[in-house]
This record gives sequence, C-alpha cells and structure tokens, in this order.
Amino acid sequence: MVRRAGRVGVLVVAGAMALGGASGFGQQKAAAGNGQKPDSGATRVVVLGTGNPSADPERWGPAVAVVVNGRAYLVDCGPGVVRRAAAAEKNGITALKAKELKIVFITHLHSDHTLGYPDLIFSPWVLGREQPLEAYGPRGLKGMTDQVEKAWKEDVRVRREGLEQANATGYKVNVHEIKPGVVYRDENVTVTAFLVKHGIWKEAYGYKFETKDRRVVISGDTAPTEAVVKACDGCDVLLHEVYNPHGEELKEEHWKEYFATFHTSPAELGEIARQARPKLLVVYHQVLEKLPEQDLAEQIGKEYAGNWVMAKDLAVY
Ligand SMILES: [Zn+2]
Ligand SMILES: [Zn+2]
Repeated sequence: MVRRAGRVGVLVVAGAMALGGASGFGQQKAAAGNGQKPDSGATRVVVLGTGNPSADPERWGPAVAVVVNGRAYLVDCGPGVVRRAAAAEKNGITALKAKELKIVFITHLHSDHTLGYPDLIFSPWVLGREQPLEAYGPRGLKGMTDQVEKAWKEDVRVRREGLEQANATGYKVNVHEIKPGVVYRDENVTVTAFLVKHGIWKEAYGYKFETKDRRVVISGDTAPTEAVVKACDGCDVLLHEVYNPHGEELKEEHWKEYFATFHTSPAELGEIARQARPKLLVVYHQVLEKLPEQDLAEQIGKEYAGNWVMAKDLAVY
C-alpha cells in the first residue's frame, strides 16, 4: 500500500476544489469536462441536494439526478427535491422540469432520503405530469407508498373532482421493490443496484448507472464496503458519503458506534477511492460539522491521490 504524503493530497485537492467550489451551471461546463452543451445527450450528474438530517439551509435533502439524453433519473428524494430540480432547470437542464420527473431510485428508507417522496409523487402531477411515477427501492417502499397515497387521498379527490381538473394518472406510483442486480434498462441507461452496509438497515442500496458515455456510481449511505469498489472499478464518477470522525457528538459512545457502523470516515473514503479508482470522486451527504476542508483533504489524501471534489448543491459533474 503506497502511503502518500498529506501535502501531495492537499495539492491535488486544491486543484479539484477550484472545479467543485462554485455551484450551478457555470461550473457545469468545466466539471462535465467534455465541453458539452446543457441539452446535448452527454451524461451529467446533477447533485440536487448534498444534505443529511441537519437542517442546513445550504444543503438540501439528499437527491441526485443522472441526466442522459434529455431524461432525468433521480436517486433519492430528500426534502425539497422538486424545488431543487426546478433550480437545476433554471440553470439550463430542461430534463429536470417538474413534470419530467418520472423515475426515482431510492437507496434506503431513512427519512432524510425519502421526506421528499410525497413531493415527488404529487407536485409534478399538479404541475402537469400525466405518467405515474416509477419508484425503485428496497423492501418497504410499497408500504410507504400506500401510506402516502392514503394520507393525501382527499387532496387527490379535490384536485380531480374540483375545478382544477387534474389528470387521473400522474399522482399514481408504480413501485418496484428491487433485489441486487440490474433493476432497470432503457435506451439511455442500465441501472444496477448493489447492497451496501448501513448499520441495522436490512436493505440499503447503492446504484451504478451505465450510459453510452459514462459509468456513474452512487454509494447512498454506507460504511466502507467492497461493494462500492467493485461497482466503480475505474468508473467515471463516484459519489460517496462521508462523516467527520472527530465531530463534537462523537464524544458520546453511542454516536461513535453509530457512525462507525452506518457511515464512512474521510480516511476510509480515501482507502475506498484508492481501490475504486474513479476518474472523479464527488463527496456528498457530508456530515462534517466544523471539520476544516484542509483536514478533510489531508485525511482523504493519505490514501487517495486522484481527483475529488466536495459537492455543493446544484453542482453538475
Ligand atoms: Zn442519509
Ligand atoms: Zn441513511
């Protein structure tokens, strides 16, 4: 195992930070790296929300869109997902128009990843979507969906039977409870789900998206796992979560144990990235309270000398 000097890592990151520092469309052209126009068919990864349960106004709920050939494939639906998609649409990504949000792959059923689910079911419908939402995810998603539909039943009745004349199909959901392996395929993309390690969750998934021009892997929430290394294996973009092992709350034993079994520290992430060899590592779902970016860079850089960026909401890669 080659241990790289911390300083080298910092230098590499300094270059990458310039790439990831700004959010929004301005960054997209540089970060996408292939000089593509916003509406070209090239695959882009739009980080709609980089957040976690913290009520951080700069980081909305976890949600990512893989956009290929004018179609958006969402991963997770944290709080605010439809408005975040609208913000990305304003930045030029028309595939993220609300009524075009038709398919989501959910990593696991933690509330920070699913509080935007009712939003994703109902708002695009109110805004004109006619197709049911296609929702892929772990066991339990069907039960959650049934409860959501029940909770907003009267809303659906009023919008359909009242003067809004809402359509009869766009609020429905086709739920697909998945198993590891290829879970979806169309002319743009093949999506493969793989199990990750997220504490006592019985099922938590990461997803691999293979398109004509890119391979993108999204870890979801996970402790370090070989599954991510295998799924990526030199992929173009690896999105991976991280937490700060020296955070204030980790002084309490149960939090220490919680993070060690549910999440990935920067040093562990460096090790994962070294083995996974992504062309670009995008760090998201950051639980990094008070950890200076310099320290994060040093910890990741001990093992990993490749390109990486700290994702900000609405960044495009
Ligand atoms: Zn989470
Ligand atoms: Zn989680």
